[in-house]
Amino acid sequence: MEILISVYVFLFGLIFGSFFNVVGMRMPNKESIIKPRSRCPECGHTLSAWELIPVVSYIFLRGKCKDCSKRVSPLYPLMETATGGLFLLSYLHWGFSFELIVSLLFVSMLVIITVSDLTSYLILNKVLMFFFIPLLLLRLTVADLYPWWIPIVGMLTGFGILFALAVLSRGGMGGGDVKLYAVIGVVLGFPGVLMSIFFASLIGAVIGIFGVLFKGMNRKSSIPFGPSIALGSIIVYFYGIQIWNWYMKIF
Ligand SMILES: [Zn+2]
Repeated sequence: MEILISVYVFLFGLIFGSFFNVVGMRMPNKESIIKPRSRCPECGHTLSAWELIPVVSYIFLRGKCKDCSKRVSPLYPLMETATGGLFLLSYLHWGFSFELIVSLLFVSMLVIITVSDLTSYLILNKVLMFFFIPLLLLRLTVADLYPWWIPIVGMLTGFGILFALAVLSRGGMGGGDVKLYAVIGVVLGFPGVLMSIFFASLIGAVIGIFGVLFKGMNRKSSIPFGPSIALGSIIVYFYGIQIWNWYMKIF
C-alpha cells in the first residue's frame, strides 16, 4: 500500500511539474496559463494529448518536436522529474499531516520560481503572494512546526539580509530574490533561514565558478540566483537538522 501511494504521489508530482513549467514560462510573458494549449515555440505545432505526457513523451520523441524536429528544452522533463521527486520526498518525510501541505506548497513555489528565473530572470510577485498567504496561515495555525514567533523572525531575517545584500550589490541581486526570502523565512523559520542563505550562496558560487571555467562567462554575466536559493532551501527544509547535528559532532 505504501509503495502504491508513493507511486501515485510521484505521478501526481510529474503532472503538477508539467503545469509548473507552463506557469513558470508563460506568466513572465503575461500569457494565459490555461489557453492556448501547449505548442512548439518554433513551428507552432499544437501538442497532442500523448505529447503532453510528462517525461515519457520527451523520451519517445528523443527531445525533438514531432513536426519540425527542433530540440525541446531539457528543462521540461528535468523540472517534471524534480517535482515528482520532491512531492514523493514530501510524502515520505511528513506522511499525511498538515506539514505535508506546507511541504507541497513550498516545493511547488520553488519549482515555479526556478523555471521563471531560468527562462526570463524573473521571480513574480503574483507567484510569491499566491504561496505566501497560505504558508503563513498554516505556519501560524495547524502546521506549527515551531513556536509562532520563529517563522515571523525567519521572515524578517530572510527579507532583511537579502535586502541588505541587494543594496550592497547595487542591483546584483533582484527584488524578487528579496521577497522570495521572506516566504522562505516563514517556512524554514529562524535560524533555518540563515542556513538556507549560506547554502544558496555556496551553490551560487559553485555554479558561478563552473560558468566562468566551462561556459566562458565572466564576472559580469548574470546568472539567476533563484535556482540556487531553491536548492539550498530544499536541502535545509528536509535535512537541515541532520546537517546541523552532523556539523556539531565534528566541531
Ligand atoms: Zn516544432
